[in-house]
Amino acid sequence: MLKDGEKGVVLQRDKQTYAIVPHIPLGIVTPGLLTRLSEIADRYQITAMKITSADRIALVGVKEEDVDQIWSDLEMDPGAAVGPCIRSIKVCPGTTFCRLGKQDSLGLGAELDKRYHGLNLPAKFKMGVSGCVNQCSENCIKDLGFIGKSNGWTVTVGGNGGPRPMLARKLTSGLSTEEALALAEKVIDFYAKNAKKADRMGRLIERVGMEEFMRAVL
Ligand code: SF4
Repeated sequence: MLKDGEKGVVLQRDKQTYAIVPHIPLGIVTPGLLTRLSEIADRYQITAMKITSADRIALVGVKEEDVDQIWSDLEMDPGAAVGPCIRSIKVCPGTTFCRLGKQDSLGLGAELDKRYHGLNLPAKFKMGVSGCVNQCSENCIKDLGFIGKSNGWTVTVGGNGGPRPMLARKLTSGLSTEEALALAEKVIDFYAKNAKKADRMGRLIERVGMEEFMRAVL
């Protein structure tokens, strides 16, 4: 029996099969990738493919003896789906595709994904990047969020879903993409050094106080 996270698997409710969740940065899927996933699902008689809240495609109902070969056939990395780490970076289409976009959310999201996806931290940590105030990436429930406006990026912190939901608070605004990335580095670094085990960002801010937190990262 494999443990959750081992070889990129998540044990399913039947306690016999697994889900495996390949990393799909920004949730962008090419027709070729969809075909490959579909062929592999057929080849290994996967029960279902689930589009997840993290914009990934999970293969559900995988047998333990097929796990290694499926990863080899996929030629993809596992998505950070379990454990205390930077999980999904949810990103909307932004100025690349959406007519309402004010900022390049795919560009910022790709850089955040490259730098931080899977980074180990005291608790799970989610990010959202939205190209405009409509917040299609649900910034208000993300530990760290970026909202595109005409004058640059507004940054929010401390949101999360789960058993103790919290709404994110505005940290600052009017940042260029480079400034937003530099602030992300400071926020994540402060969180890594100061959060207690299992504390989400919102709990840390509650503990140290928003003013002190702002003094530390701005
Ligand atoms: S947040 Fe704005 S830019 Fe992004 S998909 Fe939604 S409406 Fe479009």
